Amino acid sequence: MDLELTDKVAVITGGSVGIGLAVARALAKEGVHLAICARDEVRLFRESQAIAAQHHVEVFAKRCDVSKADEITDFIDAVNNKYGGTDILINNAGAGTNEKIIDAPDEKWQHFWDLHVMAAVRFSRGFMSGMADRGGGVILNNASICARQPLGYEPIYNTTKAALSMFSKCLANECIPMNIRVNTINPGLIITPDWLSTAEKLAPAENISAQAYLDKIAKDNTPIGRFGTPEELANFFVFLCSDKASYCVGSTYYVDGGWLNVVE
Ligand code: NDP
Repeated sequence: MDLELTDKVAVITGGSVGIGLAVARALAKEGVHLAICARDEVRLFRESQAIAAQHHVEVFAKRCDVSKADEITDFIDAVNNKYGGTDILINNAGAGTNEKIIDAPDEKWQHFWDLHVMAAVRFSRGFMSGMADRGGGVILNNASICARQPLGYEPIYNTTKAALSMFSKCLANECIPMNIRVNTINPGLIITPDWLSTAEKLAPAENISAQAYLDKIAKDNTPIGRFGTPEELANFFVFLCSDKASYCVGSTYYVDGGWLNVVE
């Protein structure tokens, strides 16, 4: 299927590893030029050079901590200088948490509010007028199944990801008259390097291998009985970026191997 994405421009936050990197590679494979950011410059530049070499697209990379407003402004300015705007924005950067509400401090709530919600607000606000000038575009917000079905150990993650999905719905309504389609994706268990290192740390306490630890999590939680790969998830992102998804607006899509326990 020709997705007609060749020579579009996509901004991907957290595009240096895991899901963001898989989306970056998948879009590059379709001929999309990229602008990616993350905090670890070594990994960011290594991966961006590898994508450019493999797929013969332009890959602009710049360090940006997306929890900081001034760094987002600098990144948006740099992308506008490089490409004159973007057609696609993927708000992906994020991280899990681990706390109890009884003693989690305000500073921690504020940090994850900035990382998961305000980053999407700031990037969307920064790019949407330019996107409209280019004739329209796509904004995808990577939330989580935890936005709807919370995990007990991470109330701050659950709450801020739920807020991101509501922001995404409001943004979709405001953007569609500009021919900008906004949607949310809620992944379930996606195997990333972070999951692998968590398993390596926690498996010995249960006297099992890291792989057995991951298999147990997948079997206990998902009807499909396994983790998804970043590449499986990235395929869905790419589809939503294309005009083949032209009637997909303001929705939340689960890519979770059946983990969501209610009918949505
Ligand atoms: P990874 O930890 O593998 O990758 C996260 C990416 O975001 C990295 O590129 C990281 O780079 C970047 N990042 C993190 N914090 C910041 C920051 N403050 N500023 C800029 N970049 C940042 O995570 P995943 O790929 O697993 O997750 C990606 C998104 O998907 C997250 O929003 C996560 O909540 C969501 N998700 C993941 C699931 C999973 O099972 N993996 C399930 C559901 C949702 P660096 O550290 O260099 O900044």
